[in-house]
Amino acid sequence: MKTSILEMSAGLADTVGQVAETAGYLWQKGWAERNGGNITVNVTEYIDDDIRKLPAISPLLPAGTVLPHLKGCWFYCKGTQKRMRDLARDPMANGSVIRITEDCAHYEIVADSPVAPTSELPSHLAVHDYLIAKGSPYRASLHTHPIGLVALSHCSRFLGKDVATRLLWSMIPETKAFCPRGLGIVPYMLPGSVELAGATIEAIDDDYDVVMWEKHGVFAVDTDIMSAFDQVDVLEKSAQIYIAGRNMGFEPEGMTDVQMREISDVFGLPK
Ligand SMILES: [Zn+2]
Repeated sequence: MKTSILEMSAGLADTVGQVAETAGYLWQKGWAERNGGNITVNVTEYIDDDIRKLPAISPLLPAGTVLPHLKGCWFYCKGTQKRMRDLARDPMANGSVIRITEDCAHYEIVADSPVAPTSELPSHLAVHDYLIAKGSPYRASLHTHPIGLVALSHCSRFLGKDVATRLLWSMIPETKAFCPRGLGIVPYMLPGSVELAGATIEAIDDDYDVVMWEKHGVFAVDTDIMSAFDQVDVLEKSAQIYIAGRNMGFEPEGMTDVQMREISDVFGLPK
């Protein structure tokens, strides 16, 4: 039987295992219909000399953009048209490990099968390039379609700067504690477009870890994929509490400003 690259690095196997586990959660939560959503993780730290010697199993493919800080970097990427629920069972048949070439403008697939990465690859890689340039420890990016958060983005009153952040933080104390930078907002733009990638990077640069793409979904970054998922999960929990209150026929009161400041002080959260 053909061996998997995952057998060559315990760290890589563990990271891809976390991606598979997260993909299962996305499906169970109803956030990942059909092939919806994307995951890319920078796995360069797990690549040793033996893995570096592996031949490419694809031709050189254009990265769609120039990525000056990703020269020689390696990524695990969900495959294009692949389902999260399938990835959860078999991550190396529904995603692949790629490396960025020396010219910083192409990539090649190295393992295990020539599964073409997500069509959103250029925007994901642009975000990773930005994170590395900034010296960020973040290595994982997640795009998914959480129902409550996407529903909120259909109402213009929640799209002002930090209006949704304040509402979501006020629904339950843990949301501010575990998503302390809140929810950035990016106005509707064509999925996969260069404009959307640029606006996402601008929002992350404005110090958000989770960004709402209006009427579409969220994009989240964190040190690892489980942490990126957790940030989206706590925000979505708050959205569900808000929606439950509205369904019971009232506007939820929310915690007061004083109560929320207390959370920031006690948890030592970024101001
Ligand atoms: Zn999407």
